[in-house]
Amino acid sequence: MLEISDLTHSYGEYRALGGVNLTVADGELVCVVGPSGCGKSTLLRSIGGLLRPTGGRVLIQGQPVESTPDDLAIVFQDYSRSLFPWMTVVDNVSLPLRRKVTNRSRRTEAAMEALEQVGLPGAAKKYPWELSGGMQQRVAIARALAYKPSLMLMDEPFGSVDAQTREDLEDLVLQVRQSHGMTIMLITHDIDESVYVGDRVVVLSKSPATVVGDLRVELPAPRDQIATREHPDFVHLRAEVGRLVRGMQNQPTAAS
Ligand code: ADP
Repeated sequence: MLEISDLTHSYGEYRALGGVNLTVADGELVCVVGPSGCGKSTLLRSIGGLLRPTGGRVLIQGQPVESTPDDLAIVFQDYSRSLFPWMTVVDNVSLPLRRKVTNRSRRTEAAMEALEQVGLPGAAKKYPWELSGGMQQRVAIARALAYKPSLMLMDEPFGSVDAQTREDLEDLVLQVRQSHGMTIMLITHDIDESVYVGDRVVVLSKSPATVVGDLRVELPAPRDQIATREHPDFVHLRAEVGRLVRGMQNQPTAAS
């Protein structure tokens, strides 16, 4: 689905990405973690065609990314700026479908279906500002789902919500991945979240970022906020990811 080779990016003199190599298979949910300011968003924006990297290449389904690919949706952290306040929830969700689905009532139907999937069918006629932060982020996820992309990029999508809502949204992502089978790349600085949600956790170094760890997460399914987080493999993996993020050497163990 996604192939990133030797990706570099500099902002003027400042090297943010120092040669990132990464492949993501169809249907995988890959979490990317790394220290704050290491270049995670730069990587995501390069994949999404929102930024032209200074070197290397990104292929999505074998095609080089030159602008934002049609088959891609992005969910940003700042839901308050990504939803249009003057449009109702259902209109926000159906907006990106305008090119893909020409029939208006079909667009509304697809939007309503997506709102149902994120547990918000009753909010369709409301405006974003009438909803809580967590509900607004659900609307942003519904908008991505309605589009039915093959690849969904999520940039710190739960960074602005409270802890309980964050857990609910993590479970929502797992649930939509299950029902849609789409490929998801989720950027986070939260180590526990990366292990809880991911099939794989990719760890970036401080900038100029390179991949310093790529760990497979084989925790029992379905994941559960209490049982998964107390599972010995979870505890082990979060420590391993934590050491990689802090630039410490990992001790080889049976589970690694
Ligand atoms: P992260 O998402 O890991 O926090 P970013 O990709 O946002 O990191 O940024 C990586 C580095 O590049 C940071 O040090 C940031 O200050 C710098 N940076 C990001 N965007 C710009 C920009 N438009 N101009 C200059 N420097 C930038």
